Amino acid sequence: MNIAATCLVPDFQACALLLDVDGTILDLAPTPQEVRVPSSLRHAMNRLSERTGGALALVSGRPLSDLDRLFAPLQLPAVGGHGAEFRPISGSSLDIRRTVPLDATLKRKFAAIAESGTGILIEDKGYSVALHYRLAPELGDVVNEAAARVCLENPSVSIELLRGKSVLEIKQAGFSKATGVRELMRYPPFRDRHPIFLGDDVTDESVFEIIGDFHGLAYSVGRMVSGIDGYFENPEAVRGWLVRISGDDETAAP
Ligand SMILES: [Mg+2]
Repeated sequence: MNIAATCLVPDFQACALLLDVDGTILDLAPTPQEVRVPSSLRHAMNRLSERTGGALALVSGRPLSDLDRLFAPLQLPAVGGHGAEFRPISGSSLDIRRTVPLDATLKRKFAAIAESGTGILIEDKGYSVALHYRLAPELGDVVNEAAARVCLENPSVSIELLRGKSVLEIKQAGFSKATGVRELMRYPPFRDRHPIFLGDDVTDESVFEIIGDFHGLAYSVGRMVSGIDGYFENPEAVRGWLVRISGDDETAAP
């Protein structure tokens, strides 16, 4: 465990906490639907949202609707769909979309890849799709090559393929978690604060690259990334840190 990361004590009046979800605050599961949000985490996030004056946000590839379902009853500020949509303050009335969902015909072509091998799962995130091969890691190259072929056959749509941990994220070009964070940081209560961003995967690297523009801090989870401020060993370590800085561990029942 990185001592510097877990000893970090944020200034709640000056910082914004920006948290990737899967693989950062939640343990990865065999399928995205099976992830579990511990009640202690939900409680800590609620406390941290209060302590930061609402400046705690999720930054995820999942759409906002999915984040709300996962963390209910919390409806946190968030960047969803890899930056396709964002919500600067709690509540759904201020949700802002920056693009349209991925074309349905194109989605079907990527879905056909999932049908080509046992253990490949497609996750329709609305603005993007993800092909998961956690259940069949030997098929990673097959999935990536097939998706690249679909892109070549459909040159009119500008698509990005992002290879993550046993997953291939397929999204439209032109937005990213970084563009979403830039937009979020223009709105109060995030504006003029210093973001502390935690992320575990390749799609988080775009945020690592811009965090310095906001005089913020960036931490990876589960791996070292050069040029950033430190790392947490795993999501459990992140959750322990969040519970501790929220003050919940001092008040928890024995
Ligand atoms: Mg992640």
